[in-house]
Amino acid sequence: MERCDVAVIGAGPAGASAAAWLARAGASVVLFEKAARGRDKSCGDGLTPRAVAELQRLGLDISRFHRIDGLRVQAGRTIREVRWPDGAFPPVGAVAPRAEFDAMVMQAAVDSGADLREHASAEPVVDEVTGRVVGVRAGQTEVRADLVVIASGAGSAAARLLGATRVSTSPFGLAIRAYAPSGRADDRYMEACLTVEGPDGRIVPGYGWVFPAGDGIVNIGVGALSTMRNFKDLNLNTMLDAYLAQVGESWQLGELTDRPKAWRLPMHVERRSGPGWVAVGDAAGLVNPFNGEGIDYALESGRHAAEAFLELPNIAPATYQAVLARDYDPFFATARRFAWVIGRPKLLRVLLGMALSTGFTMELVLDIMANLVDEQHPGLAGRLLDVGGKGLALADPLLVRA
Ligand SMILES: Cc1cc2nc3c(=O)[nH]c(=O)nc-3n(C[C@H](O)[C@H](O)[C@H](O)COP(=O)(O)OP(=O)(O)OC[C@H]3O[C@@H](n4cnc5c(N)ncnc54)[C@H](O)[C@@H]3O)c2cc1C
Repeated sequence: MERCDVAVIGAGPAGASAAAWLARAGASVVLFEKAARGRDKSCGDGLTPRAVAELQRLGLDISRFHRIDGLRVQAGRTIREVRWPDGAFPPVGAVAPRAEFDAMVMQAAVDSGADLREHASAEPVVDEVTGRVVGVRAGQTEVRADLVVIASGAGSAAARLLGATRVSTSPFGLAIRAYAPSGRADDRYMEACLTVEGPDGRIVPGYGWVFPAGDGIVNIGVGALSTMRNFKDLNLNTMLDAYLAQVGESWQLGELTDRPKAWRLPMHVERRSGPGWVAVGDAAGLVNPFNGEGIDYALESGRHAAEAFLELPNIAPATYQAVLARDYDPFFATARRFAWVIGRPKLLRVLLGMALSTGFTMELVLDIMANLVDEQHPGLAGRLLDVGGKGLALADPLLVRA
C-alpha cells in the first residue's frame, strides 16, 4: 500500500489547483484523474476577472487564450456593453477551451510536484470502524492519505458516497454547449442573451451565450435554472437550436463542429467536508447561481483546501468548512434565493428592464452577479448585495413556499 499526505480525486480546475498548492508547499500529493490531460468538459469556457485573478495567483500565463474585455448583454431589443470593472480584480477575462485550459492546469499540478495518475478512476476508502476517510482506491492501487480531496465534479459517485449530494430543495442549473466557426470569433466581448424562451414560450431564468474563443471559433450554448416554470419539460437541444437561429446571422456562424454536450451545474450540496476529507469545486456545489460560473470557485476552493491542510492537517476539514461558511455561503445563499425570484417570468421581465435601463445599472448588476465586488471598498454594488441579501433572507419563508 502506498502513502502520501493528500490524495485528490479529479484533476479538473479544483483538484489540479489543490494539488498544485499542496505540492508547492512540500506536501506529497497523488492526483487521480479518470480521463487524461486534454480531456474535454462541457462548459462555456468563460473566464471572468475573478478566475483570471486566481490563475495569476497560481502563476499561470493565460495570454495564449482569447482575451475578453467585457460583457454584451441582450434582453429583447435592448443591448448593453459593459467593460470589466477595474477594481479588486484585473479588468481582463478570457475564453479558454476546456480541453486546453484543463490540460494547462493539470500540467501546473505536475510541474509543482504532484503525482498525476491518468486513466485512474478512484473512490474514497472509508474506515469501517471510525467512519473516517483514510485514503483512495483506484483499481488495484490503494493510497493511504491524511486528507482526501474530492474534486470529481458535478454529481460524481465519489462525492455522493460521502454525502456531498445536491440539496434537493435548492436550485441547480442545466446547460448545453457547442462550438461553431464564426466570422466574429475575434470579438472582445462575451455575449449573453437574457430573454431565451422555454417550452411554454415564456422567458426562462438563464441565458444563451456566444463566447468568442479566437482562432475562428465561438463557444455557444444555453442554460437554465431549475426554478423555471415547467422545468421538467426543458429541452436544451430545442432551446439551443432556437438560440442558434436567433444569433446565427449576426455571429456569421457555420455548422457546429461537434455534437452539443449538456451537463449540470450544482449550486448547493449537503456536505462539503467530514473526517479525513473535503470537497472542492463542483463536488462542493460551488457554481454561482447568478451566472453559472464555477471555474473561479473551483480554483479558489482548491487553494483553500490546500491552505487548510498546510496550516494544521488534523483539523483541515473544519478549517476549510469555516472558510466556505465565512467567505462564500452568504453570497451563494443570496444568489440561490434570487434564483427562486427570477423563476417567475413576469418578475424576471421587470428586473431585466431595471437592470438594462442604463449603462450604470448594468455595471452594478455585472459587479454583483459575477461576484466582482471589491471587499475592501464594496461601494454601491456591495451595499446593494448586502441589503438585497438581507431582504431576500427575510422573504425566505415565502420563497420556500413558492
Ligand atoms: C454547459 C456548461 C457551461 C459552463 N460554462 C462556464 C463558464 O463559461 N465559466 C465558468 O466559470 N464555469 C462554467 N461552467 C461550470 C464549470 O464547468 C464547472 O464549475 C467547473 O468545471 C468545475 O471544476 P471542477 O474541477 O470542480 O470539476 P470538473 O471540471 O468537472 O472536473 C472534475 C474532474 O474529475 C474527474 N473525475 C470524476 N470522477 C472521478 C473519479 N472517480 N476518479 C478520478 N477522476 C474523476 C473528471 O474526469 C474531471 O476531470 C459551465 C458548466 C456547464 C455544464
